[in-house]
Amino acid sequence: MPILLPPLSRRRFLTSVVAGAATCLARSTVGKEPLCDANRFALLSDTHIAGDRTKTARGINMHDNLKTVVGEVLAAQPAPAGVLVAGDLAFNEGTGEDYATLLGLLQPLRERGLPVHLAMGNHDHRERFWQALGEAERKSSRLEQKHVLMVSAPLVNWFVLDSLDRTDKVSGTLGDEQLKWLADALDRAADKPALVMLHHYPDAGSIPTGLVDTEPLFKVLLPRPHVKALIFGHSHVWKVDQREGLHLVNLPPVAYVFAPSNPNGWVDARVAADGMTLELRCLDQQHAQHGQRVQLKWRA
Ligand SMILES: [Zn+2]
Repeated sequence: MPILLPPLSRRRFLTSVVAGAATCLARSTVGKEPLCDANRFALLSDTHIAGDRTKTARGINMHDNLKTVVGEVLAAQPAPAGVLVAGDLAFNEGTGEDYATLLGLLQPLRERGLPVHLAMGNHDHRERFWQALGEAERKSSRLEQKHVLMVSAPLVNWFVLDSLDRTDKVSGTLGDEQLKWLADALDRAADKPALVMLHHYPDAGSIPTGLVDTEPLFKVLLPRPHVKALIFGHSHVWKVDQREGLHLVNLPPVAYVFAPSNPNGWVDARVAADGMTLELRCLDQQHAQHGQRVQLKWRA
């Protein structure tokens, strides 16, 4: 299926830069302690919300977990400039009911003026997601058949990719058109550090359970020194690593973990000119890793 590549015009690019910074400024009170930090972001992944809010999996009620996390993000002072969710928004097959329940849970953030940026995972369904979220969400994507976003902040640009291949098939792909779009979009925004988010983890295995086109993605990211971090979910395991100075951040799930000792929760990210501090916020506040801070220094 051909994928149309609408031009990412300079004008459109500038509009998105201004909009990103302005949302946060508009919510802050001039002359007082700022209510919103334009360089703070709430990073979530693998929410796995089912239409039925009483649904549980592996002993976890996914609805209640996300509700708790949304409450914590709302309570953060100063407020983050935005929330990014690295996919697997829906429980299993991305039904319309799943997305309706998800939207209900995210509503308090949107009411507070906090933009929420959502990536597609292997348990999502792109068309039903667009149907549930409305035309505006579809139009915010820069590719006809993929849900990609660029979110600009004062110190970084976020690129949110779409690695959903087929719903409920574990591995993911970006595809040549999206990689071309990403390379072009990164080159147009080389004046600022770039942070790239997608659902699937890098995977060099012969039978990949993560991103099939991992090496083509690294061929886009590694030679561009302004790309500082790749952020993903999928494994339900919190982990920070790096490859040639590019930070690899595996976000914890909001929903269930596969090994009981692993934390679930979210990550409070604070961006600076030369790096980013990640603070793990565990749903179990007694967890040994709750409050763990990781300092990422940007590569040269
Ligand atoms: Zn998942």
